[in-house]
Amino acid sequence: MVYINKNYTNLTENYLFSEIARKISEYSARNPGTDIIKMGIGDVTLPLCDEAIRAMTRAVSEMGKAETFHGYGPEQGYDFLRQKIRSYYADRKIQLDEDEIFVSDGAKSDLGNILDIFGKENRVLIPDPVYPVYVDTNIMDGRSISFADADRENNFLPMPNENTHAELIYICSPNNPTGAVYSRSQLKSWVDFALQNGSVILFDAAYESFVSSPDLPRSIYEIEGAKYCAVEFCSLSKTAGFTGTRCGYTIVPKSLVFDKYRLNKLWLRRQTTKFNGVSYIVQRGAEAVFGETGQKQIKANIDYYRENAKLITSALDKLGIYYTGGKNSPYIWMECPDGMNSWQFFDCLLSGANVVGTPGSGFGKNGEGFFRLTAFSTNEKTAEAMERLSGLLA
Ligand code: PLP
Repeated sequence: MVYINKNYTNLTENYLFSEIARKISEYSARNPGTDIIKMGIGDVTLPLCDEAIRAMTRAVSEMGKAETFHGYGPEQGYDFLRQKIRSYYADRKIQLDEDEIFVSDGAKSDLGNILDIFGKENRVLIPDPVYPVYVDTNIMDGRSISFADADRENNFLPMPNENTHAELIYICSPNNPTGAVYSRSQLKSWVDFALQNGSVILFDAAYESFVSSPDLPRSIYEIEGAKYCAVEFCSLSKTAGFTGTRCGYTIVPKSLVFDKYRLNKLWLRRQTTKFNGVSYIVQRGAEAVFGETGQKQIKANIDYYRENAKLITSALDKLGIYYTGGKNSPYIWMECPDGMNSWQFFDCLLSGANVVGTPGSGFGKNGEGFFRLTAFSTNEKTAEAMERLSGLLA
């Protein structure tokens, strides 16, 4: 008899995106030819920058010649890329050793895989609402989860308090779905809490490149003491349009010691055992993104999305609707008007304006009554969607 991991039976089905797709297709069938604008897109829409394409094309040619062919590479990533990531941090006055940087195929894998090195008996604290992967990966392992409630009262930035008891603490800043970003002093409180309680912070910085305000931290290592309590996950997905190309990186400082073990050593062992690295071609593309021209090109793309975010926040400002995000994040998290719940507002926006967004209730119980709009559409469609939304809600 084969025994399965019974924890999987505790996972709840996430119907969010399938339910959205079903509602859209039914509505389209009832109203043929309707121009529906999708403002719920969580994926980038602009193509890869020229520098990345050029570098990957060169790398493909290299793979076709015996003298420049690359087989298995280092599991932790090629030095050429790790050096670039190191400089990316050094430019922000964060000093890392190259062997504290682990290149991967994206933040999602690392966020799930990191749990391999932590005992199942650890208590976990996860913000609500948030990216659902943190919850599901811990349910798969059978860990006990508590939630840090994010709501209007704390501007969707929950802080530690006397009831906070956890060894593994997730922080996502800028947050998906709320777009809320912790200030340096707020992050300092979390770092101090982790240091006092012997907890580890799993800091998801997937959207750091959208932070435009210099007062706001883009890395947890901008906070004193963080190298003793935090692992940072980052990704080229939203930064450089690598959602389909796949490349990310995780920082595990050597100063992280828990239960007498060095996390860096455990993570290296985990990765070298279960992972065979990111393709040479993709790593050359990622390297190009960190170059001077690459940085200019990806910033132009991010600025394009920022324009969309501005269109959305300006419309909501005019309507006097409460929201978080948008200024330092591609996500805008708005309160549903007239006391509607998330799905009621979804239906209202679809039928009244032919605009689609994401019901906040899909990201946790505190998401009920809220709605996520994203800046990943085109300028034209975003402007049109905001005109329709303003007409509907005015
Ligand atoms: N972290 C957050 C908060 C996200 O929203 C996402 C993707 O939507 C990821 C991580 C996954 O990133 P990647 O594409 O690098 O796996």
